[in-house]
Amino acid sequence: MRGMCDIIIIGGGPAGLTAGIYAARAGMDAVLLEKKFSGGQASTTNIVENYPGFENGIGGPELAIAMEHQAVKAGLQISYEDCVGVEIGGDARRIKLYSGEEMECGAIILSMGSQPRKLGVPGEEEFRGRGVSFCATCDGFMFRKKNAIIIGGGNTAIEDALYLANICESVTIIHRRREFRAELALVKRVMDNPKVRVLWDSVVTSFGGGKKLEGVSVRNITTGTASAIPADGAFVAVGAIPDTNLVKGKLRLDESGYIIAGEDTRTNVARVYAAGDLRTKPLRQIVTAAADGAIAATNAMQDLRALNRLERHVVIAAQ
Ligand code: NAP
Repeated sequence: MRGMCDIIIIGGGPAGLTAGIYAARAGMDAVLLEKKFSGGQASTTNIVENYPGFENGIGGPELAIAMEHQAVKAGLQISYEDCVGVEIGGDARRIKLYSGEEMECGAIILSMGSQPRKLGVPGEEEFRGRGVSFCATCDGFMFRKKNAIIIGGGNTAIEDALYLANICESVTIIHRRREFRAELALVKRVMDNPKVRVLWDSVVTSFGGGKKLEGVSVRNITTGTASAIPADGAFVAVGAIPDTNLVKGKLRLDESGYIIAGEDTRTNVARVYAAGDLRTKPLRQIVTAAADGAIAATNAMQDLRALNRLERHVVIAAQ
């Protein structure tokens, strides 16, 4: 497989998989590298209700698997390994794998997505896996008929609250403001759910317990009042940070670490494209990530054709 590709796609979320579908269907030799599992953050979403075509919504993992199968059927080669380096200076477009091997290609599509942001307060790391979680869909079942809290006020936090309300005895959302930023349809549902209560204007200052999490300390930021909230599970849903360490210092990033690229997904380096959540963009959704993937693959193909570079490439070095 190695060394015979026109395009290397790094990251197998909706952006990368869609880029793969488009590239493979256009007859390009495309390889997608994924370090964990396909689907990215989408595969950690319980139910996706705003991706077109699914009247009753579709499970995130189910959608991710369907995208992966479709990409493989189209001819995309998916390799589950970690890309640890990218060389994009001059004419070279090379990547280095964890194994030490290098691959060369004509174009690179970056679609590594983002990672959950942490609160950075005492106990968060200590109790991770012992009550503190960053994925309600993955870990919610462990808190059946127990008391859970969720920190955050975006779509993830509100979707998680609705999901956990079906499993847990009670769900407390702790949000630092008095207004959610999540979409209205979700907010209405969560506010109507009798199992959910909200602590407004509040921040978690620490996670505490013994062998397992027993609760969180909370401070009301308007009154300064401190309180303790007992909880068996705490789900941190305070946004994401782009997974762009691989290209730091090599591509233009904004102050938050997002790769600066327009709707055409082209970065400041020729034949390097940024697709999905890691790109500067106004709306980060599965549908916009998929759109980015399609555009990136199409533009990569056009750019390679213009350079007459749709040829086969070779493995440079194997150590
Ligand atoms: P988000 O929209 O960035 O929201 C993060 C939330 O966490 C905000 O309410 C923010 O508060 C809060 N927050 C951030 N840092 C905090 C801190 N240090 N302490 C306490 N609270 C903090 O993140 P998200 O909900 O993960 O969503 C990320 C993107 O994915 C969004 O574009 C979202 O629309 C999208 N998404 C889409 C779907 C879907 O399409 N089905 C599902 C989930 C997510 P403030 O509001 O005060 O800033």
